[in-house]
Amino acid sequence: MHYHIGTMLIDENFDGKVECPVCRIQKKIDERLTEQYLGEGVMEDDTRKEVNKLGFCLHHYSKLYASHSKLGLALQVSTRLNTVMANVDKAKNAKSAKKQAENLLNLGKTCVVCKYLENHMVRYYKTIAQVYDNVASFKQRIKSTPGFCLEHYAQLLNYSSFAGKKQEEYLADLYEVESNLLNNLKGSIDDFCIHNDYRNIGKPISKEAKESLKNASCVFYGEEK
Ligand SMILES: [Zn+2]
Ligand SMILES: [Zn+2]
Repeated sequence: MHYHIGTMLIDENFDGKVECPVCRIQKKIDERLTEQYLGEGVMEDDTRKEVNKLGFCLHHYSKLYASHSKLGLALQVSTRLNTVMANVDKAKNAKSAKKQAENLLNLGKTCVVCKYLENHMVRYYKTIAQVYDNVASFKQRIKSTPGFCLEHYAQLLNYSSFAGKKQEEYLADLYEVESNLLNNLKGSIDDFCIHNDYRNIGKPISKEAKESLKNASCVFYGEEK
């Protein structure tokens, strides 16, 4: 379940549009990976073992459920239930109940699609930094990005060493973009608060202020998946 990582998605999504470009890359990879769990490969031994062990998070379960192949999902769920059922036992005392609870809670924390998605995304965080280092014109692309969601800003910082000799310049450009985004957002949220004060009823509200709560959600939690 791998595909070649090129710079095409980076090139396509660092286009100056408002949404976090890394969220948009992630969404595309997420779609490709999720689809693979409905394809013919789902019942291959290796895949089945992984689904059995890791299961799906709610986000990916919902995506699979919304797709055309309910049978594909049912086969995966059947496999996964084997693991779940092996972990549900009649607890003999509070101590063993606690142990069982811990196991069950851990079962809910893993997702096979998320695992691969995270691997792919790490390669993208590194590649974005490398492109910055190698392609002079990419600096301008970063600078004309309206900003990143907090998770992706943090991940770009995490892997900034991959920008090699340009890492400090890269960090400065990332910071400039992100601090502008946050300052503008803070300004529009404060305008929204002022506008919604009863003393200001009837006064016009700017487009930015009107959309500020929605924009704050994109910064805090990323674009809709
Ligand atoms: Zn993002
Ligand atoms: Zn997941």
